[in-house]
Amino acid sequence: MDLEKTLLRKVGEAIQRFQMIRDGDRVAVAFSGGKDSFTLLEALLLLAKRAPVDFTVCAFTIEQGKFLRPIQPIGEFLRERGVEWTYYRDQPSHRLLDEQPDHGCDLCSRYRRRAVYEVVNGLGANVIAFGHTADDFVESFLRNAMFTGRLSALPPVTMSSDRDFRLIRPLCFVKEEITTAWAAQSGAPIVPCGCSQKTGTVRRKLRDLFADLEKEHPHLRETMLSAMGNLQPDRLLDPRFLDPGLLPGEAPAPQPKEAELFPIFTES
Ligand code: SF4
Repeated sequence: MDLEKTLLRKVGEAIQRFQMIRDGDRVAVAFSGGKDSFTLLEALLLLAKRAPVDFTVCAFTIEQGKFLRPIQPIGEFLRERGVEWTYYRDQPSHRLLDEQPDHGCDLCSRYRRRAVYEVVNGLGANVIAFGHTADDFVESFLRNAMFTGRLSALPPVTMSSDRDFRLIRPLCFVKEEITTAWAAQSGAPIVPCGCSQKTGTVRRKLRDLFADLEKEHPHLRETMLSAMGNLQPDRLLDPRFLDPGLLPGEAPAPQPKEAELFPIFTES
C-alpha cells in the first residue's frame, strides 16, 4: 500500500465531502503529540502544497500535565520542518490535576476546550483541526448508543458555539492502522499521554471487541462508517421520523422528554 497516497485520498475525500476547508482558511491543528495528530498535521501540510484550495496550516499543543515524556523533542522536530508550532502550558488544568487527580474526561475536556479557543484566537486561525480517526468515530457511535441512549458519534465538521471557529475532523475516514504506520515511517518523536495507557476502559474494551470481530469480518469499521452516512430514521424508534398515517384533525401523540424515555425501556 502506498501510505501517503491512501492517507491523502481519505483525508481529501473527508475535506471535500464535508466542506471542511475553503480558500483563505488558516487551519490550526490541535497537536497532542500522538500518532493521530502527527499524521493529521503531515496530511494537511501536504494538501496545503498540492490542493487547489489556498489555505495555511499551523499547530498548537495544550499541556495539561498528562504527557509521559517531555514534549520539547516534538517542538524541535516540527520547527526543523518549518512548522509554525505553539506550546501552551495550561495552568488551570495543572491545578485541576493537583486538586482532583482522578477527575473524569468531561472536566478535562472542558478545560482543554477553553484553552484551545484562547490559544487559537491568538494564532489568528479560523479553523481548528482535530485528529479523531475512523476508530474514534465508530467507538463513540457505539458508546453513545450503549451508554447514553443516543444515536450519535462526532461531528466531522461543525461551528464552535459562538460561531467563531469551524471545527473539523479530517481523519474521520482514516483507520488507526494508517496513523500507526505513518508515524512509524516518519520517525516522529511520539509523546504518549498517560490516559492512552489506561486499561479496563470502555474504549479499550470496544477496541478489543472490534479487533476480535474483524478477524472474521475485516471491514466492520468501514461498514459502520457507511452506516453513519446512510441514515434510515424511519426504521428507528424516534416518532419525529415515523408516519403513523394520521387523518385530518388527528393530533400527534404527546412525546415524552428524552429523560423520561428510560423507564419505558426498563423491565421494572
Ligand atoms: S482521556 Fe485523559 S486527556 Fe483525554 S479527556 Fe480523558 S482525562 Fe483528558
